[in-house]
Order: sequence, then structure tokens, then C-alpha cells
Amino acid sequence: MRFFPSLLALLLSVLALTPPAANQTEPSRIWITDVTIVSPENPADLTRGSVLIENERIARVERQAGAKPLDGATVVSGQGGFLIPGLIDSHVHLVSVPGTPPELSLNPGVHTTMLADYYQQLPRSYLYFGYTTLIDLAVAKREILDGFRRAAVHPDLYDCGPSVPLANGYPMSFAPPELRFQLFPNFLYDPAQSASIPALYKPQDHTPEAVVAADKRAGAICVKTYFERGFGKDRNLPVMTPAMAAGVRKAATADGLVMMMHANSFEAQQFAVNAGVDVIAHGMWNWGELDQKPELTAEIKTLLDRMVEERTGYQATIEVMAGLRAYFDPEYLKLPAIPRVIPAALLGWFNSPEGKWFRKEINEDNVPDGEMRQAFDRGPIRRVRQVAGYLAARNANFVFGTDTPSAPTYGNLPGLNGYLEMQQLHEAGLSLEQIFRAATISNAREFRLDSQVGSIVPGKIANLVLLRKSPLESVDAYDTIVTVWVHGKPINRDSLAANSSR
Ligand SMILES: [Zn+2]
Repeated sequence: MRFFPSLLALLLSVLALTPPAANQTEPSRIWITDVTIVSPENPADLTRGSVLIENERIARVERQAGAKPLDGATVVSGQGGFLIPGLIDSHVHLVSVPGTPPELSLNPGVHTTMLADYYQQLPRSYLYFGYTTLIDLAVAKREILDGFRRAAVHPDLYDCGPSVPLANGYPMSFAPPELRFQLFPNFLYDPAQSASIPALYKPQDHTPEAVVAADKRAGAICVKTYFERGFGKDRNLPVMTPAMAAGVRKAATADGLVMMMHANSFEAQQFAVNAGVDVIAHGMWNWGELDQKPELTAEIKTLLDRMVEERTGYQATIEVMAGLRAYFDPEYLKLPAIPRVIPAALLGWFNSPEGKWFRKEINEDNVPDGEMRQAFDRGPIRRVRQVAGYLAARNANFVFGTDTPSAPTYGNLPGLNGYLEMQQLHEAGLSLEQIFRAATISNAREFRLDSQVGSIVPGKIANLVLLRKSPLESVDAYDTIVTVWVHGKPINRDSLAANSSR
């Protein structure tokens, strides 16, 4: 007790001498000023203003020059730059290491450190390109996502839980029969295939209601389904029936989950629209029998008109095809951004003969590079762009998703792939405002995250990005990031690079 008066005196003197900003009990306040606020709820209002961050949230938005900062706030000048909401990529696969064969993650051997370094850099690479919210569509290894969420700085991460393929259908068909049910335990039961489903899996645990409930229990915000008959050696795979899709639709609605469908062909997207899915997870690069038609046909347009009418969420994912084409473009690995998102050891491996293994898989006949590029440009890339352009002209409900990485390709790298996808969307005919909305508020609304993120509005999480250029003037602006705020914490862009000297 006798220490009390002196302790109290000490405390009082400290309080008297300490300005409020340094007082631990005061909220941390950052006043970002001299910025043009670019927010999707009102993109036309490009007045110079200021934003107050209090703790993790946006507390005040002043759309006028000269607004005075609160006492005690740390003032940060945006130096005439552009402040946008943190970007959202609603289609990523964090477990897959781009460019590496699946066997490598099962048995990394001498490459253990190379893979560990990649996972450590992964959240930083997304932040480096301004992505502060991600949705992982297929949780295969929960521990990779947990590690991502434990990183010192990382985007907010949501997921669709274990994905929902049809038994022995895409993509579980790519795994050997003895492994595929372990890798995809949340499959839909198919009575027609009961002989090829191990007996330990009971039909009642694999009904549409049961698999959606399993995702819900796992904390998912969405359910990822597939309609894909396959390609290459794996053609004619079994696909779900309309009744199964209707069952998933009903259960997802009841459980409050967003229903997504992997669908990249005319047939599959027709199936998806008929099933009333919320989001189609791919662009349409495969037109089936119509592949050789130089323009969109009437039947394709009719389907696209329905998507526009029904406001189906659409992820064009043009970089899926461009990411395969990258193996035939000698300039691709020279992109100056690549050493910023990929650690040196993995990049060195991409450049090694071993690192080109996937190139052989997509070009077994050794077709020259120039011909391969043309085949992509005149085939799937042309088709997916024509579809995106048609939808853009009718202001369809684009939601920005990259599918990074879509295959074991080094053509889809974290963060950078979003930037390249934006370039693709712009070339396909989306306006800069459409791209901006797709990567912010449209994604937030579609995935029911709009009370938290997607625009610069008081009360939302302070996930913000400061750009030197306006994203409504050029798509290159997305590569002029200065600072990224994650839950109110500012991070200098350069410090996020894989090759930064931090
Ligand atoms: Zn995907």
C-alpha cells in the first residue's frame, strides 16, 4: 500500500506529459489527406478529400479539401494520389504452388525450403497488388489456409470449404482412384456409380443437403460445384444431374451460402444458369460444336442475355487460358513484376529445364511456340474475350475472380495474375469502371461481405489502397500502388515485395 501514492503520482505525471496520440488508451487514428477518393458507390464524385481511420475501421470520409484532422491523429499525406477500397479476388487456390507438379507438394524433398518460402511470401504478393480480401474456392489442405491467416500481414481470407464434385467427376477424376475420395471427401453421391465408390462412404452423407451442411459447418461462405465433361485424356467424365444441382441450390439458399459452379463451356454455363447458380466461376472459352464460329451465335447470345437478366455473377477468368499460353511466350518470365511476387529460388526453378515440365504436358506434339500462341489467340482466348465483351456491353454482373493458379502453371502468379486479368478484361471490352466495380463492391455484394468491405464508407474495415494514378483513367494505375492499409495498418508497397530488402 505504501507504494501507492508514489505510483499514482508517477502515472499522473506521465499522463500530463504525454500527448493524446501516444496514449495507449486512445484509439489509434490515421488521417489520410490530400487524396482523391475513388469509391464504387459514387465513382463520379472525384473530389479531393480525407479519410479518418480509427482502429481497424473507416471512421470518417470528408469529400472536401481543407477538412481539419482530429487532434491526435497521425496525418498521412496521399500526395495527390487516389485512394480506393482494397481489391477483392473471389477465386483463388492458395494451396496450389504455381508451376509445380502435384507430386512436389506431396514429396518436396530438396525443394522443401523453396515451397516454404513461397507460402511465406504468398499473402504479401496478394497485398503487393492491392488484394486485401480473397476467397479460396476449394479447401484441400486446411493447414495452408490456417498458416496464411497466421501470417503477420495477410489479406482477409474466406473460403468455400471442401469443394463439391460429383463422385469420380471433374476434378477428382485427375487423382488416382485410391486417393481421390480422400482428397475430395465432400463429393456428391451418384447411385449410378455405386460400384466405384468405396463402401465406407455412405450415400446419406453425400446428398446435396449433407455436402452443403458440411461446408456450412466448416465455416464456408460459399459452395463450389462443377459441371465439366473433361478435356485431353479425361473426356466424358460423369456430371451432376439437374436434380442434384437443384438440391444443392435449395440447400445453399437455406444455409445462406453462395452457390458457385465451375463451368467454362456453352453447355456447362447453360446448365449453370438453368440451375440458378449465384456465380459462374469461369469465362466461356469452350463453345463445343460452335468452337469454329468466328462470332457469337444466336444461341450463345440468348444464354448470355439470360445471365444479364438474372444478374448471374460472372468471373471471366481470361487469365486461365493466358496462363497456359505463357509457356510459349519467351517474354513472359521476364516480366519485371515476377521477382516481386515470387521468391528467387522458385523463379530460378521456373527457368530451369525441370521447371518446364508442364509445358510438355500442354504441348505433347512439340508444336512451335508461335503456332501455340496463335492457337490460343484464335481459339479459346478469342472466344472468352468475345463473351466477356458481349456481357460488358450489356453491363452484366461481373465479379472479379482470377482462379490463381488455375492449373499447375507458372502463368498464374499470386497478385500479379489479378493485374494481368484486369488488363485482359479491359482488352475484352470492360470499361475501367466495370473492372473497378467487379473487384470491389460487386464482389462484396455477391459474397455478402458488403457490410465490411468493398467501398470507402464509415464503419467498414479500413482495407484501403493508395495509388499514384486513377484506376478510372488507366488499368495500369493498379500497378502504381504506394501504400496498402489492412485493417487500418499501413504497409509500404515496396516492403511487400519478395525481393525487398526489408
Ligand atoms: Zn478454380
